[in-house]
Amino acid sequence: MKFTSFDLKSQILKALEEKGYVEPTPIQAQAIPLVLKGHDILGVAQTGTGKTAAFSLPILQRMYDMRLGIGPAKISTLIVTPTRELAIQIDENIAAYSKHLPFKHAVIFGGVKQGRQVEQLKRGVHILVATPGRLLDLMDQGYISLDDIKIFVLDEADRMLDMGFIHDIKRLLKVIPKKRQSLFFSATMPDNIKALSNQILHHPKKVEV
Ligand code: AMP
Repeated sequence: MKFTSFDLKSQILKALEEKGYVEPTPIQAQAIPLVLKGHDILGVAQTGTGKTAAFSLPILQRMYDMRLGIGPAKISTLIVTPTRELAIQIDENIAAYSKHLPFKHAVIFGGVKQGRQVEQLKRGVHILVATPGRLLDLMDQGYISLDDIKIFVLDEADRMLDMGFIHDIKRLLKVIPKKRQSLFFSATMPDNIKALSNQILHHPKKVEV
């Protein structure tokens, strides 16, 4: 199977060609068509499986279809991940996949001064990659509005809970719009993660590798 058999714009396929990707990984082959159709996803997959492109590529296509790159930049996709390293990696991937599309992306995480992150937010962002604490902090300070979120990704949910982010996630769920597409990824699926996924997802399709 080839990436060209998915319903992806030439701008996205061109970026993949430049990255040297030809064939989708198993998680990508399963998830991409489902996300393109607008389904919520329960993804059981670890880092290294190609999970980032599995959600990023169809998200870019959906944002393109929704004409979200036209007009003032509002945060329409929010990707929440537990660590700074993962956040940076995801943002770098999105930079590569979206290089021929008009979307602005930014990454925010704790442990550094907020000044540069705030400046970036003020310039306008369509896709925000964030760790939970800094996200809520900048939201509380009024630098981030989550009112226009159309797509929400919770990455590495099990690690998120291990790191004690459950209350941050619960707070986040209270403020993001109910009407949205949600993609939930976890390497493991114990009962507490299953329960959290039930609070986030609406009739999800399960993808597993
Ligand atoms: P991830 O699981 O998203 O962290 O991806 C693991 C690594 O595989 C990253 O370095 C990606 O750039 C790479 N990768 C993801 N999808 C593909 C693909 N379809 N073909 C080749 N490399 C890929």
